[in-house]
Amino acid sequence: MDTALADRLAAVDERIRDAARAAHRDVDDITRIVVTKFHPAALVAELHALGVRDVGENRQQELTAKRAELAGIPDLTWHFIGQAQTNKARAVRAAADAVHSVDRARIADALDAADGTAPLDVLLQVNLTDDTGRGGVAPGGVEQVAVHVAGLPSLRLRGVMAVAPLDEEPARAFVRLRECADAVRTVVPEARWISAGMTGDFPEAIAMGATHLRIGSAITGPRPARD
Ligand SMILES: *Cc1c(COP(=O)(O)O)cnc(C)c1O
Repeated sequence: MDTALADRLAAVDERIRDAARAAHRDVDDITRIVVTKFHPAALVAELHALGVRDVGENRQQELTAKRAELAGIPDLTWHFIGQAQTNKARAVRAAADAVHSVDRARIADALDAADGTAPLDVLLQVNLTDDTGRGGVAPGGVEQVAVHVAGLPSLRLRGVMAVAPLDEEPARAFVRLRECADAVRTVVPEARWISAGMTGDFPEAIAMGATHLRIGSAITGPRPARD
């Protein structure tokens, strides 16, 4: 067993508990997703042995391959957090338990059309930057996309997801995400998930009310170079 990995996981979990306490929140309302992109399936297996049950991947092929390799570990929840392409919707749906990156009606339609045996949990990705080329629905368009997704029978709209911009205080940007979360809840009242907070900003995300943290390098160590 990799003791460094166990130590980093424990240190992050302690910081999560501290931030939850400071925000007067119950830590049980916060799901810590470990982002394992670019790392081998063996690392996911080690994390599972350390008690991790939620993992995140941002590329469909990598997600599909790792899930297949770890099919013997049934109690892992796989979160897809990357850009979703409509022609990969069937593969994403087959491999993911939740998709955090729905950012347009077309991808929602494709995920809905790809047959699933169980409803698929989805979140609307919100673009918190001024760059319209970035992934995510502009905050002003969130409610409209939420109405669309809410009408798709096999998708369960759970809430919102975002990455904080690099050039802004995360806490400030997260205020806008919180407003988007409220807008979604006017459409689907039980859509309470707020997926936010990475290695550099998860305490701020917890203060804002994040329910799902996506933490990579603080736990896994640096990512291997992508080939
Ligand atoms: C890689 C990634 C993360 C994790 O990033 P770290 O900074 O390593 O914690 C979180 N969210 C998304 C969408 C990512 O692509």
